[in-house]
Amino acid sequence: MLESSFRIGTVAGIRIGVHYTWFIVFFLLSGVLASYFRESHMEWSGFAIMLTALVTTLMYFVSIVLHELGHSLVAIARGVEVRAITLFIFGGVAQTEKDADTPATEFYIAIAGPLVSFALAGLFYLLKLWSAGYSPTVTEALNWLTTINFVLAVFNLIPGFPLDGGRVFRALVWRFTGDAAKGMRWAVMGGKVVAYGLMFTGAMVGLQPGMLFNGIWLMGLGWFLFVAAEGSRRAYFTARLAAHVPVGEVMLKEVPTIAANVSILSWVDEQMLLQGQRAALVTENGQTVGLITLSDVIKCPRAQWPSTLVSKMMTPVDQFYTVKPSNTVLEVLQIMRDQNINQVPVMDEGIVVGWIDREHLLKILQLHSAIGR
Ligand SMILES: [Zn+2]
Repeated sequence: MLESSFRIGTVAGIRIGVHYTWFIVFFLLSGVLASYFRESHMEWSGFAIMLTALVTTLMYFVSIVLHELGHSLVAIARGVEVRAITLFIFGGVAQTEKDADTPATEFYIAIAGPLVSFALAGLFYLLKLWSAGYSPTVTEALNWLTTINFVLAVFNLIPGFPLDGGRVFRALVWRFTGDAAKGMRWAVMGGKVVAYGLMFTGAMVGLQPGMLFNGIWLMGLGWFLFVAAEGSRRAYFTARLAAHVPVGEVMLKEVPTIAANVSILSWVDEQMLLQGQRAALVTENGQTVGLITLSDVIKCPRAQWPSTLVSKMMTPVDQFYTVKPSNTVLEVLQIMRDQNINQVPVMDEGIVVGWIDREHLLKILQLHSAIGR
C-alpha cells in the first residue's frame, strides 16, 4: 500500500520516501503544535509560534526516520536487506526483503527502533536542560520532542504484531519454544488485541468534545494494525507452507492425457472445453511423448484445427519442464514463474506420477493460510 511514495533521499543505500498521507499528518501536527504553543505562551509572536511548530514537526519526523534507520542498520548488519523507509500517516515503516531467519536476528532488528527512540528522548532532554534560560521557544520544542520520543518508544514496545514489541514477543516465543510458527501466532493474537483496544479507545476519545479527529486517527491506527497483523500472518503461513511442503503431497494425482493421433479440434471440443483442461500429456502406445497446452493450440490457425494432429503442436517429451515429487511448492512456483508456464507434470524416475497447475497450487496455499497451519 505504500509503494507510491515520493523519494526524499537515500541513506546507506536505503531509499527514504514519504507517502502522500504523510502530508495530511504533517499539516495537522504543525497545526496542533501551533495552537498548543499559542495557548501556553501568549507572549510569543505569531512568527515564533509558526516557526517553532514547523521545526518541531520536522524534528519529529526526523526522529521517526532515525527510529526506522535503527531497525534498518541492524537488519543490514545481520544480512537482511532493506529496500526503503517510508513515512506515512501512522508513522514510518522499514521494508525489508525477507523475514529474519533466526529469533536473535528478529529480536535485535525489532528492539533497535525503540532503543533509538529512547536515546533520542534522552538526547532531547539533555539539550533541553542545556538550553534552559537561553530561549523559551527552543526549550518548549525540546520538551515536546523528549516526551514524544519517549511515548513512541513505549508505544512501539506493546507486544502486538506488527508493532516492534510484537516482533520482540515473537522472537522470544520462537527462541524459548523453538517454534517460529507459534511465535507468529501468539504475536499476531497480541496485535489483534492491541488493534481492537485502539479502535475502542478511538471511539471513546472521538466522542469527547473537540476530539473527533484524534478519535478517528486512533481508530484508523487500530484498523491499520489489524489489517497488517492479519496480512502478515497469512503471508507468513503461505511462505512457510511453500518452503516446506513437497509437491508430491499436493499434486493432482489424475493426469489428463490425450492420444497423439487426435486432432486439435477434438481435443479442444472433447476435453479442454468439457473438462476445463488447459493442458494434457500426449501419449502414444502407452508412452508419454509430449505436452500440449492452451498456448500451443492458440499458435495453430483455427481453420487448421480439424486437420492438425495434437502431436504436431505439442512440446516433445525431452523439451518440457517437469518437477520431482520432492521439489517444494516454492521451487515449483519459481520454475513456473521463470519459465512462464501454468502447469507442470510431476515425474518420478521417468514416470509421470502427478500434475501441478498454478491455480490448484494457489488454491491450496490460500486454504492453508486461511486455516493458519
Ligand atoms: Zn519500530
